[in-house]
Amino acid sequence: MTTLIGSCKCGKVRVAVRGRPARIGLCHCTDCRQESGSAFTFFGVWPASQFESKGDTKEFEGRQFCPSCGSRLFSADESEAEIKLGVLNEAPTPLTPTYELWTKRRESWLQPVEGAVQFLEDRT
Ligand SMILES: [Zn+2]
Ligand SMILES: [Zn+2]
Repeated sequence: MTTLIGSCKCGKVRVAVRGRPARIGLCHCTDCRQESGSAFTFFGVWPASQFESKGDTKEFEGRQFCPSCGSRLFSADESEAEIKLGVLNEAPTPLTPTYELWTKRRESWLQPVEGAVQFLEDRT
């Protein structure tokens, strides 16, 4: 089974995901814009049992980040873990978005990802 590994910018927090993700997304919502400081987030969702992290994180509204360098890393509960894919070591990643959220907030110069299900707001 494929394992993808990643870390925050300073390296104090490490993450790993095993096997196939449940889904891969882009989100253009205002929360994602503000928390990332960018125009959208690129994330993957795995069953919680296929996700591991090492190192201390801090949390804001369920989103875990590195308290030393500020990298946004993941959100996780008992069932699923959502990983910010920009933290993976492999760039580009072998992962392609299967859906896009909040396309009404997408920058006008960005094109929809071919084949990805488009949602005007949250996933329905
Ligand atoms: Zn860090
Ligand atoms: Zn969002």
